[in-house]
Amino acid sequence: MLLIRCPYCGLRPEVEFSYGGEAHISRPEDPNALNDEEWGDFLFMRANQKGAFRERWVHTHGCRRWFNVLRDTSSHEIHATYEVGAPKPDVPGAAKPVRKPRARKSAKP
Ligand SMILES: [Zn+2]
Repeated sequence: MLLIRCPYCGLRPEVEFSYGGEAHISRPEDPNALNDEEWGDFLFMRANQKGAFRERWVHTHGCRRWFNVLRDTSSHEIHATYEVGAPKPDVPGAAKPVRKPRARKSAKP
């Protein structure tokens, strides 16, 4: 049985939860500006990728709160769970983005 750590309740069995699809899908700012194909893409098209994937889950038979899960879709290993609005945890094994050093202000004589 898969165990999922609810950010609010702790470790619980999978049967207490419901899957909610891909996480971090934002609603278009102006839906009326979209044509039918773009609106259909927003509603139905998802990445469905193999490997680390960010998903929404709800603790249906617990606190009933939504949260995000970083789960490997091929092994079902859960790397992290986090509250909605919290910073995204890093994907294990992925290269971290390189930060550009700040440009120094040149000293004027
Ligand atoms: Zn919960």
